[in-house]
Amino acid sequence: MTDLLATAVDALGGDERAGQVAMAEAVAQAFDIGEHLAVQAGTGTGKSLAYLVPAIARAVETDCPVVVSTATIALQRQLVERDLPRLAESLERLLPRTPRYAILKGRGNYLCLNKIHNGSAADEPEDTLFESTATTALGRDVQRLTSWASTTDSGDRDQLSPGVSDRSWSQVSVSARECLGVARCPFGAECFAEKARAVAGKADVVVTNHALLAIDAISEAPVLPEHDLLVIDEAHELVDRVTTVATQELSSTPLGVAVRRIAKMVEPEHVERMESATSALTSAIRDGSAGQIDTLDDGLAAMLAALRDASTAARRAIPTSTSDPAAAAARTEAIAALDDIADTCSRILESFRHEVPDRTDVVWLARDDVRGTAHLRVAPLSVAGLLRGGLFSRATAVLTSATLAPGGSFDAIAAQWGLRAEGAEDAEDVGWRGIDVGSPFQHAKSGILYVARHLPPPGRDGTGSAEQLAEIAALISAARGRTLGLFSSMRAAAAAAEEMRERLDTTIMCQGDDATAALVEKFAADPETSLFGTLSLWQGVDVPGPSLSLVIIDRIPFPRPDDPLMAARQRAVTARGGNGFMAVAASHAALLLAQGAGRLLRRVDDKGVVAVLDSRMATARYGRYLRDSLPPFWFTTDRDTVLGALDRLTDGATTYPDS
Ligand code: SF4
Repeated sequence: MTDLLATAVDALGGDERAGQVAMAEAVAQAFDIGEHLAVQAGTGTGKSLAYLVPAIARAVETDCPVVVSTATIALQRQLVERDLPRLAESLERLLPRTPRYAILKGRGNYLCLNKIHNGSAADEPEDTLFESTATTALGRDVQRLTSWASTTDSGDRDQLSPGVSDRSWSQVSVSARECLGVARCPFGAECFAEKARAVAGKADVVVTNHALLAIDAISEAPVLPEHDLLVIDEAHELVDRVTTVATQELSSTPLGVAVRRIAKMVEPEHVERMESATSALTSAIRDGSAGQIDTLDDGLAAMLAALRDASTAARRAIPTSTSDPAAAAARTEAIAALDDIADTCSRILESFRHEVPDRTDVVWLARDDVRGTAHLRVAPLSVAGLLRGGLFSRATAVLTSATLAPGGSFDAIAAQWGLRAEGAEDAEDVGWRGIDVGSPFQHAKSGILYVARHLPPPGRDGTGSAEQLAEIAALISAARGRTLGLFSSMRAAAAAAEEMRERLDTTIMCQGDDATAALVEKFAADPETSLFGTLSLWQGVDVPGPSLSLVIIDRIPFPRPDDPLMAARQRAVTARGGNGFMAVAASHAALLLAQGAGRLLRRVDDKGVVAVLDSRMATARYGRYLRDSLPPFWFTTDRDTVLGALDRLTDGATTYPDS
């Protein structure tokens, strides 16, 4: 393993790093003994090589693929376009044959040739067909996608630049349920999704995403090639991504699509019955109050049952089969929509048959005030059982990220993954261990963690106090721009950006001013620029060098108190006798804080300050736990020390006090 890793590091132009070697050895051992492994590997460890090298070696030796799953497209691209091609070439001479790799995503990520050639406009409401902006934007996109279909090799949505909206993409793609099936589809032989599956079936390393991993865990039929080894990178995102896949909803748009899909397929009485059931439910959820639903009132229960029954009856009324490909596609899409509605109604009704402590699903009403829509959602309270039964019982998994052990312990996240037993008396730990291979960075010498203890605790309205805004201005002035502002809400980011534009003469950009990637590019190119934003910047910004010397965090990123899923998860832990706040809210905040603070040092010679403008980080009981979850920066609450350090840093002096 050491020789293989050294060859790989050499080929990719890196240096040997102790953490990388330790991780590669631990991964190889985990694969050998079949024990699940969680690895916290700080920025700069080179963790992708540390798992890819043992994965390739093992897959080539056993002829059994290793699946590697990522949360983000950026990492997927890095693996498939940069790391794997170079690794395959460099390791070839040390292995019995050339390693093969492939990327595989869910069916909805690929262009569907049958939909392009035989699809209908049934998904679009009639009243938008002649709306100039809607038809222009949508029509332009669909035209572009149709011509792209004849030039692309992959049909992969992520290869399309610039991208298109979900609405446009849905005109040229199908879900797995909507697919005709390769045997019946007139385009089966050319199908992009089928080709990707065929290539993945012959690969040693199959790169996928957490969503497909979740679908593979949930579905009865496997969607990934058979494998017994699995690597989950960006594993801190796993629970959220799996929860999203396992969440279902009812709202006016998909309900309207279902009615339009069956309109010309079944007797009018079925269409009328569906129309009446969907319109009753849509009005009820439009008029309902947002938030978790603990008790299902009789009226809503009756509407859900009526909609379930109407969908089931309409589905039965759809004629059995047709040889016309366009009609077959329309039929499959209608069945998929009706099945989805009936399943969701049944799932919601079923969840209320149990007392609150025994429920495994959470139901809530969500409102999107910007779009003016309302959604009735149902999501799993925990995905631990699903991951345990669907993933960890089938394959040995290595789960890795720069942030997995808030407060120095893997226990909270291992419980969320279902590796660590929690709750049920007969539950036992699945065999697993966690290791922290550290980081090659000297955090205490390169970075300062400053907590503005003197500021008043953040208010409830989400925007910053006058004192906090003055602090932001002072810090950015001392840093002469170079600031990434990570805010807990878009409202706070926008308000602070507006205020700083008034006060400062360096450029302040705010997420939403342009595409995020373009903003990050400008931010990286001009050191005097600052960039403010919210969640996607907490994890997605990688700007090494002098353009980023200061990370400002406006408040501890606890989940919103009105987040129904988080509140229900917290309540469930408390009901089991645990500390719900620490296990759910504090550990969520700790992982996010560590991700945000991790934006500061991206290469070994980077230096700077992480400034947390939430005094609770220094004064509250949980403050110590949160600080211990961050990289080991030099810690201070002294404002003058920090302003002086930023001043010296931007003047070229780069020495910080030793810890
Ligand atoms: S098999 Fe046919 S219907 Fe299914 S995704 Fe491929 S092209 Fe579309």
